[in-house]
Amino acid sequence: MDTIFDKIIQGEIPSTMIHEDKDCVVIMDINPVIKGHCLVISRKSYPTFTQCPQEELSHLMEIAKAADTKLRQVLHCDGTNIVINNGPAAGQEVPHLHIHVIPRYTGGEKVIFPHEVYQEGEMKSLGKKLDF
Ligand code: AMP
Repeated sequence: MDTIFDKIIQGEIPSTMIHEDKDCVVIMDINPVIKGHCLVISRKSYPTFTQCPQEELSHLMEIAKAADTKLRQVLHCDGTNIVINNGPAAGQEVPHLHIHVIPRYTGGEKVIFPHEVYQEGEMKSLGKKLDF
């Protein structure tokens, strides 16, 4: 089934597109965290980051970097959040790989993630299991 981003790419749903090439498009997010928030969207409808081949991911990151450069030039933002919500458990709402590029300004609200606390030795033992 087509995702909303497939429909945007096919021109069935309007969007404000600021870049397109053979592998991806970049559109303005309709509900921006901060004005200028844009989305780098893979033309192929990989449901998540995890399913996307490395070469295509590299291209998406290159385009996210170009979007970051453009946001800094035009909006004079001081930084950006480059975010991939990878899967529904991570808050991904549209099951079609995309990278958020969000302009940020010095003194603006910090993105707050909740934090957990390790017990004594727990971080090291988990680190051993996760080593690769
Ligand atoms: P995620 O939660 O990572 O899947 O993010 C989906 C993003 O898509 C959200 O930030 C939405 O605001 C954005 N979005 C959904 N529909 C549209 C649309 N028609 N045009 C532009 N952005 C959209």
